[in-house]
Amino acid sequence: MGYRAEVLAIGTELLLGQILDTNSAWMGQQLALRGIEHVYQGKVGDNHERIVRALRDALDRADAVICCGGLGPTQDDITRAAIAEVMGVPLVRHPELADVIRGMFEARGRTMPESNLLQADVPEGASVIEQRIGTAPGLICPVGDKVVYAVPGVPYEMQEMLERAVLADLSLRAGVTGVILSRVLRTWGESESGLAERLQGRIDALDASGNPTIAFLASGIEGIKVRITAKGDTATEAQELLDAEAAAVRAVLGRIVFSSDDETMEAVVGGLLLARGQTLAVAESLTGGMVASRLVAVPGASEWFRGGVVSYASEVKHEVLGVPEGPVVSEAAAIAMADGVRRLLGADVGLATTGVAGPTEMEGQPPGTVWLGLAVGEERSAVHVRLPGDRDRVRQMACISLLDRLRLTLQGP
Ligand code: ATP
Ligand code: MG
Repeated sequence: MGYRAEVLAIGTELLLGQILDTNSAWMGQQLALRGIEHVYQGKVGDNHERIVRALRDALDRADAVICCGGLGPTQDDITRAAIAEVMGVPLVRHPELADVIRGMFEARGRTMPESNLLQADVPEGASVIEQRIGTAPGLICPVGDKVVYAVPGVPYEMQEMLERAVLADLSLRAGVTGVILSRVLRTWGESESGLAERLQGRIDALDASGNPTIAFLASGIEGIKVRITAKGDTATEAQELLDAEAAAVRAVLGRIVFSSDDETMEAVVGGLLLARGQTLAVAESLTGGMVASRLVAVPGASEWFRGGVVSYASEVKHEVLGVPEGPVVSEAAAIAMADGVRRLLGADVGLATTGVAGPTEMEGQPPGTVWLGLAVGEERSAVHVRLPGDRDRVRQMACISLLDRLRLTLQGP
């Protein structure tokens, strides 16, 4: 039997459904990505005896257990003590860890509750994964020839520690060599089946070689992601495979790829405006400020975003933005809104949304009917889209559709 790992998520709130156990899902993906066999996941509440039993059961089945949660300073954070019991060793306070924790509080100008020093207690014989974000260090705890890893429950602390320390240590123990890297290409404007059809040639070629691989991840209102995963003996080799495949996929998909990895649509749009030295203003009806909110979430947005007008009532469209009398869910209204807001706020580019979010129809038009207005230089235009889904989804889709329209316009043909 090959080397096996298990995941154990610790926390009563996970059992009660107050928190969704996304950590286990993420860890499962990472283990699969690295080719580490992983056949069991557990969840256990904050109870000493039951955590001890869950750890012992897991160690009976598997060679390694990664547990998350319960490393905090409070009464119900008892993972450290449970692991110590399984190891058959006492907890020992590490003065240098205590100093690091004290220092973290001082750096934030806060006094440290004494209870935080519990986080400097380490089972004898365990090694420490230094804490970088939260105050809880992670642990690597040998149990005979097996191992228990403990990482915090807070998702980004957990992820950071897994990537920095746990996965490499685990790969070494499991005898899994090589480096796995992945990149996500984000797309907008094509269905999953449409993407698969366009990429069929690439998929066939990769099926034959088995490396890299391509997977589609539908992420709803953020479009569809194409994830490329490459494995190499070295990081350079994996990187080269990844670069080559990403270039091939981009060549096939062309302009529907709007960014890669974590870059959002609004960040792409901001970058394009910045490069052209232009500023943007938005007039929003059915999106009610959602477009503006996404734009200001981009660091440095003040360089290119002037502001917005939530012109929800028809009178506001007419009186504030100078939209002529007539139907407001229309091409003419969308154009007049985009042009009006750019004039009003002194921006180079104007964008507008007007439409029917639902659930009831408006001006005789069904929910999901949306006009996206754009005014750039001499160009003043609006496109009509029919968006699926409930009210929230229609509004979200209108936002990203509008931003994508601006992206395509700024990028040119
Ligand atoms: P802390 O020092 O913050 O107390 P901890 O290691 O003790 O960290 P927990 O107290 O178990 O971790 O969880 C802290 C928070 O992390 C929870 O409130 C929850 O928001 C999140 N969290 C914990 N476990 C999970 C999980 N399995 N999946 C997703 N989120 C989780
Ligand atoms: Mg806690």
